[in-house]
Formats: sequence, structure tokens, C-alpha cells
Amino acid sequence: MEETSLSFDSRYWPFKKYTEIYNRSLQDPERFWAEEARKLDWFKTWDTVLDWQPPFARWFVGGELNASYQCVDRHVKTWRRSKVAIYWEGEPGDSQVLSYSTLYRWVNKFASVLQKLGVGKGDTVALYLPMIPELPIFMLACARIGAVHTVVFSGFSAQALADRINDTQAKILVTADAGFRRGKFVQLKNISDEAARLSPSIESVIVARRGNMTPEMKPGRDYWLHDLLDKADAHVSPVPVESTHPLYILYTSGTTGKPKGIVHNTGGYLVFNNSVYKWVFDIKEESVYWCTADVGWVTGHSSIVYGPLCHGAAIVLYEGAPDYPTVDRWWDIIEKYGVSIFYTSPTAIRMLMRYGEDKVKRHDLSTLELLGSVGEAINPEAWLWYYKVIGGERCPIVDTWWQTETGGTMISPAPGIECAPLKPGSATFPLPGVNADIVDDSGKSVPPGQKGYLVIKTPWPGMLAGIHGDPVRYKETYWSKFPGMFYTGDYAIKDKDGYFWLLGRADEVLKIAGHRIGTIEIEDAVVSHQSVVEAAVASKPDPVKGESVVVFATLKQGEVPSPELKDGIKRHIRSTLGPVVTPDEIYFVAKLPKTRSGKIMRRVLKAVASESQIGDLTTLEDEASVDEVKKAYEQLKKEV
Ligand code: AMP
Repeated sequence: MEETSLSFDSRYWPFKKYTEIYNRSLQDPERFWAEEARKLDWFKTWDTVLDWQPPFARWFVGGELNASYQCVDRHVKTWRRSKVAIYWEGEPGDSQVLSYSTLYRWVNKFASVLQKLGVGKGDTVALYLPMIPELPIFMLACARIGAVHTVVFSGFSAQALADRINDTQAKILVTADAGFRRGKFVQLKNISDEAARLSPSIESVIVARRGNMTPEMKPGRDYWLHDLLDKADAHVSPVPVESTHPLYILYTSGTTGKPKGIVHNTGGYLVFNNSVYKWVFDIKEESVYWCTADVGWVTGHSSIVYGPLCHGAAIVLYEGAPDYPTVDRWWDIIEKYGVSIFYTSPTAIRMLMRYGEDKVKRHDLSTLELLGSVGEAINPEAWLWYYKVIGGERCPIVDTWWQTETGGTMISPAPGIECAPLKPGSATFPLPGVNADIVDDSGKSVPPGQKGYLVIKTPWPGMLAGIHGDPVRYKETYWSKFPGMFYTGDYAIKDKDGYFWLLGRADEVLKIAGHRIGTIEIEDAVVSHQSVVEAAVASKPDPVKGESVVVFATLKQGEVPSPELKDGIKRHIRSTLGPVVTPDEIYFVAKLPKTRSGKIMRRVLKAVASESQIGDLTTLEDEASVDEVKKAYEQLKKEV
């Protein structure tokens, strides 16, 4: 927690309106959220605002609506039909501009494509696509017919894709022939073929053309999207679905090897995102909004697709890397489209900071009005650079804390209501309706300045409906550590002014360049390499990515440690989990530090990985004695 001279920027005083709305929202949450829900178009009004059977919440029960209707039909009935919905920028510099009426046309046609392949309400469609307009269009097309989408980040491997398809039992896989990654093609169709081989539920594969490739097309299973569109109907009526009908399933890492399918239901999720998007980004009709996340993460779902499009916003969608082909590509895009709201991650900011101010200064960024940050805590140095160099000291920064599970932003300044006086590095205050607190091990609120666990004490409409197919894991993961409270898995601290500072994960989950990955998932991938017997994973601080992966592995008898073997294991992890998690270091060790009951001493690993001291051992998380931990630490340090 580090306060800088920018603390309490006086422009944002007084700060009463937020407090009044926040207090009101917690006094009578159902009334508050009902008012917010009325901002959407419902085909049928709900009977009950909240049916809370802890830990399962059902919002706006009895109500009926349709997400694609909210995001497109509503707008084409107004002057917005000619408004830009999507400015799409391809990595090689090609571009497309889609108005709301064009978006409406495509969503209808894509919905017809799905229908003609037998997709109906409740079926799951897996979307494995690069950042091309087809991705949001397919999401909306699924929503239009009541199908459930599961978007899989296009950087994931065939195995990761297959695992998600098998868990959801998706019937249809939508992919592209290829996607761009730094000027090269990634053969997505080939990866999809491999995944489909491992996924018996897949009946059809739809292939969008992006790379002019000629992949093998399996007759009767694979279809080019353009051929299907030729035969598609121009209009498909939006299917009214129950508020509690699932809109999507999105996988995220947890503390076991198996990713969790987070389910978000239509009504609560849309109401929440419609509101928080307005509060956080203060969206205006003339705004040009750009969120640089990939649609494959929750940020993309809520802050590229559903939040902005509910508001009829004009969004930028960019296909490629931030620094490709030149390091000022992003600044060029802001200038080209006159972006006014820019939302990105601390990792990206730290990376672009390294290229220096000159690369920024040659662009006119004067259209910017508001900046945002998400995915990990933003360090004050990066915050200040973002504020001064990108925002020209004019633009507030909304540091937004949230998770796949929360559905939308929970803690953030809210310029759409009244911006909190900013403190660089703090996400400031919970948004209205978000009953956040910080508690100790016994679940008691901690006093200001004391570190504890971030919890949410009452349900909110964006809250996950559950983990797909696993109600027991849902209860255990989120509701058992502190009965009656949603456990976020994050450490946090409140300062004397009530500001929330997020301090990273309290569980065995890493954040690599803002991407969430469980240590056990990586360990599973390492031990599936033929030369490895056992592995444990820790992270070390990284100046750009926040954290980077360090692997400790024991080898099978007869295997000889070598640089080639390290490279082989790195390649194996990449192909199992995707390039996001490539380890920075692999250490071969004789044995892993473990307690007598066989639990890996994670603190020892972390200390050795980050070349730091083992530190205070008075509160032992490792159920081993102080001596044992020290001995294990010294031993491991000698070995690496
Ligand atoms: P994900 O569900 O992949 O978006 O990851 C959510 C996790 O990212 C949270 O539990 C936090 O650990 C971290 N996170 C997201 N936004 C922030 C933020 N603004 N400040 C600090 N940590 C964040």
C-alpha cells in the first residue's frame, strides 16, 4: 500500500452521491436491483426479485428476456440502427465497421445457421475463435435462440478445448481456419480437429475463414461458415428465455487440476452488467470504447460484448498483439478511431511503458477521457505512467476488481455515479449493491490496515449461478471457508479511509500476465511429460507479467537433467495448456519439500523461486514444524 501525491485528487470531492446510493442499495437490495432491472426490456416481468436458497441465488424469477434482443434489436428500433456498433481492426491492418443494423443482420443470419444445424434452446455451442467479428456475433446468435455459449480462448491447446467441450457436452464447435498471432498463422482448424477427435459430443464444426487456408474438411461434420450463410434465413425471432436460463459457461482455473465451468444466467447477469458498465465507464452516446481483453476471458464477455452492447455503445475490437507490427500499434488505434474510453491490463501497461514515452507522444491521444485497468493489481508506478503519459493527466483511472465468478465489476471508482477521489493502486470502493468486506480466519471483519480475505456478504445479480455439473464443488469452493459469505480467494486490506487495496490470491492460483491458472493444472501438465515423476509449481515476481511460473520437477530414474530436457518440458506444457503458461524456470530437484502428511510446502517453493527469505514462520500454513520448513528451504536452495 503506497500512497502518492495524487491521493485525494480534489477534483473528485465532495463524495456524497455515491455514498447515498451505496447505502440505499444495501438497505433494500431487492428494491434497488428491481429498479435497475427495469432499465432492460423484459418480455415478461419477474414475480420474485431474489430467490435466495443459500448458496444458490436465482434472480428475477419468472421474468423472461433475451440477451441478443437487449444488445441489438432494442437499438435497431431507434436512431442507433445507423450508429457504429463495432470498429474492427485486424492485425495486418484490414478493418471493418459494423453498424447496429449490420450487427442485427449478422446475428439473425448466424442464429439461423445454428438453428439449421439443429441447435436449440439449452444446447451448448463451443466457440474457439480469434478476435474477429464472428466471435461476438456467434455469442449473440446463441443467446438469440436460447443456446448456451462456451467461449474457449483461442490460445488454448486442443486438450484444453476438448476438456471444456466434454464438460459441457457441446454439440457444435465453431472455429476459424486460422488466426493471426504476431504476423504468423495459428492453425485453429487443425487444433479443432484434434479436439473434436477427443470430444464425442461434437456433431458439426463450423469454420470461419480468416486465413485463406485450405484445411481438411470432414464431409458431413465440417462446414464453411460462408456456405452456411448463403442458405441462412434473414430473420430469426429472439427466443424469450427465463431470467434463470443460462447464458454462458466460462471456464476458469481453481485449486484442483480441473477448470471450473462458471455458469452465468441471463437475467441477473445482464441487469448487473448493464448497471455496472454505466457506473464504471460513464458511457455516453458519443463514446468510443475500447477494451483490449480477449473475448475468451470474462472481461471480454462482460466488458466487450454484453455490457457495452446493452448500452448501444460503439466499441473497438482489435485482433492482434499490443506491439505488433510496431510498438505503438495501440496508440495508433486510439488515434485512428478517436477512442474515448480505454480499458486494459497492468501487464500490458508495464510492457508498453518499457518502450518509452516517445512512442506514445507521436500520437494524438486527446480523445481519451477515461482509462481503466483490470486483471491484477496495478502498481503505483504503472498507474502514474498510465495517468500521465496515456491520459495526459486529464483522465481518471478506474481500477476495476472483479472475477469470472462475479460476472461484472465489483470494486471500482464509479464516474458514472460520482468518481471516488483516486489513490493510485487502490480499486477504491465497492459498487452499489456489492456488500464487500475483509475478514480474518474466523470470518470476523478486520480493522483498517489489517490484511484479510475479501468476501462478499450478500448475493448480487451478477453472481455465478454455480459450477457446471458440480454443485458440491460450488459450495465447497466459495461458501464453506466462511459460511454464509462468498469467498473470493483474494487477500485485501482496507485503509483508514475505507479504500480497498487488493493484495493478490490467497489460494493456489497464479495470475500470469493477468491470466488465472491453478498451480495444480500446471503440475498435472508437467507430470504428464514422460521424463517427470513429480512436480510442484510456484511463481516469482515478474516486472511485466506480475508473476511468472517456476517449476520444480523430479525426474524418472535414469533421466539426465539437461537444457534440452528443460526445453522439451516447456514445449510439452505449452502444447498441453497453451502458450500463456510457459514456465520461466524449470529446476530439477532430488525431492520436493513436503510435510510429513505429504503436502507440498508451498511457502518454501515460493521463497526459493523468488530468491527471497522464508520469512516469518510464526503462522505456519504448511502444517510442518518451523525446523522442518527451514531445513526443506535450505535443502531446496542448495539444489537449484
Ligand atoms: P479472472 O476471473 O480470471 O478475471 O481473475 C480474477 C482475479 O484477478 C481476482 O480474483 C484477482 O485476484 C485478480 N484481479 C482482477 N482484477 C483485479 C484488480 N483490479 N486488482 C487486483 N486484482 C485483480
